[in-house]
Amino acid sequence: MKILVEFILCCSFLLAFDVEVSGEGAFNGKTTLLEFKNFKDIKYEQVHYATKSFPILINPSNTKKSYALIPISYYEKSKIQELKIDYTDNNERRTKLLSININQVKYDKEEIHVNPSKVNPKAPDIKKLIAQEYHEAMNIYETVTNKSYIKDPFIMPIQSKITSAFGKARVYNGSLKGYHSGTDFRAKTGTNIFAANCGKVVLVKNRFYSGGTVLIDHGRGIYTCYFHMSAFNVKEGEMVKRGEILGVSGQSGRVTGPHLHFSARINAVQVDPLQLVSLMNNKILKGK
Ligand SMILES: [Zn+2]
Repeated sequence: MKILVEFILCCSFLLAFDVEVSGEGAFNGKTTLLEFKNFKDIKYEQVHYATKSFPILINPSNTKKSYALIPISYYEKSKIQELKIDYTDNNERRTKLLSININQVKYDKEEIHVNPSKVNPKAPDIKKLIAQEYHEAMNIYETVTNKSYIKDPFIMPIQSKITSAFGKARVYNGSLKGYHSGTDFRAKTGTNIFAANCGKVVLVKNRFYSGGTVLIDHGRGIYTCYFHMSAFNVKEGEMVKRGEILGVSGQSGRVTGPHLHFSARINAVQVDPLQLVSLMNNKILKGK
């Protein structure tokens, strides 16, 4: 179902400007695809949403359209959200406002029992380490590489059963601790983990919560993350191709058993990785 977006026209001039929210609409924890119809005199530039801006690019699988990927935070509530679009019409700079409906997904809840020392670490040195790891990762995610390394559709990092979906509210040892920020795949220790797409390896590290971690920058603010690995096959700064072996799975970090946790970010906002992959593969990277 396609939902046509209504414009709040800020100017009175008439113009053939056409944008719509693709697919089922906008949901918390998901990526929203805005599709713009291309016109000769109009050059779309960027969309502003929630203090961030997102580029509007020509769709490589349909050059009659341009697109922007808007990540909606998991914690976003149901509301009408105003977005601002920058574009030029005959080289004149213009701005248009549009409103989209943000809908709520009914995510499940799950109870998890782990070693209490991994739930609420009290030791100051551990707390400090966790804070350092968090800031290091956020600095990476907030870095937007101004080009895309992606040429082909995404692949799955492992062919295996999904054991925990993105977005489940998580209750660790009886207390609510956020939500599941990625998709878990069954993976016995030592199973090969593949790069979901081309990109630059920007972090290879053993971390407190995520254990053996690899982060890949795919460009344009898109990152994929691979957690709980037991060995690495890549180094920081290295370019990887889609399908290249990043290392092998394990059960490092805060886990209940061996598995791969796969997650994704757009401009630092955590989104459902499988929904992002299917959206990009079906709408942007199709036929590539
Ligand atoms: Zn996980």
